Amino acid sequence: MTFRAIRADKTESGQNVGFVEMEDCELMEGDVTLRVTHSTVNYKDGLALSGKSAVPRRFPMVLGIDLAGIVEASAHPGFRAGDEVLANGYGLGETHFGGYAEKARLKGDWLIRPPPGLTRAEAMAIGTAGYTAALCVLALERQGMKPSMGPIVVTGAAGGVGSVAIALLAKAGWSVVASTGRAEEADYLKALGAAEVIERASLAAPGKPLGKERWAAGLDCVGSTTLANVVAQTRYGGAVTACGLAGGMDLPMSVAPFILRGVSLIGVDSVNCPMPLRLEAWARLARDLDRAALARMTETAPFDRTFEIGARILAGRVRGRVVVAMAK
Ligand code: NDP
Repeated sequence: MTFRAIRADKTESGQNVGFVEMEDCELMEGDVTLRVTHSTVNYKDGLALSGKSAVPRRFPMVLGIDLAGIVEASAHPGFRAGDEVLANGYGLGETHFGGYAEKARLKGDWLIRPPPGLTRAEAMAIGTAGYTAALCVLALERQGMKPSMGPIVVTGAAGGVGSVAIALLAKAGWSVVASTGRAEEADYLKALGAAEVIERASLAAPGKPLGKERWAAGLDCVGSTTLANVVAQTRYGGAVTACGLAGGMDLPMSVAPFILRGVSLIGVDSVNCPMPLRLEAWARLARDLDRAALARMTETAPFDRTFEIGARILAGRVRGRVVVAMAK
């Protein structure tokens, strides 16, 4: 039996990324084999699908950093045939064959069960992007940030991390300022819970080392000058999470907000996040993410259309999240 996969192969001139038929014997090592039923397209997947990125760190590599599916065979004590599971990160699609395949074999230690009340499709609607949004919210809360302190700004608001973050923060009682380059999505962002929508250009140009204090906290998906401005405009004692680089990998800023206003900048990584924190993030999502809001931010595409979605996400033309549904 063969199965379909999207694989990156090394070529003399770079990479070739495309659909291939694979056999079970080609799967990598692992104690759990599963039938993948759903995956998703995150920004990082868009980069990998372009065939021009450093996302795959060994070749050949089956792409896809997220997957949900049903266990077919397991030698792991925690899982048995028929169990529903999902996985994010841990090098999926980078160093270990990922979710863009009808089959996967991986370490049971990387798997979690979809939290009660979440279907596999909903888990992939959340995916790495939504789970990262939850990690950011938890990080801000650990830093002592509370809605009573003032508003919070979310950048890259209409994207995957941004959309889920707005819904979670609004549910927690925050007054959310959504920064977007897509003014036409203002109603969408308000329906998710944003109190105010601002134009992303207002944060994109190089600003002063210390700006007017506008928000108590920030959740940034963009990086570069946008993150620098978000931090420079954060109130005394506030905190900002950095998880993304949609606007650039650099961070052109001064130490002024840290040493004069006591602002904290908190890095958030989803890939190697320890299991207890993963489980906390997923439990929070299952508890607090309104399913109607999740449905509003999600579109579903068949596996065949994965490349088209990847190109759209890189062009900033995906609103919210996309689930990739494998053929039955
Ligand atoms: P999306 O593409 O869905 O969202 C990114 C959003 O950023 C876009 O929708 C757009 O929002 C905004 N944006 C895009 N390009 C630019 C630009 N040039 N300048 C300013 N804003 C821009 O991606 P995800 O939500 O999946 O991921 C967001 C970021 O977080 C990515 O950089 C991703 O790599 C990173 N990430 C990191 C993780 C980690 O473990 N640290 C995990 C998951 C994601 P709008 O149209 O509203 O302006």
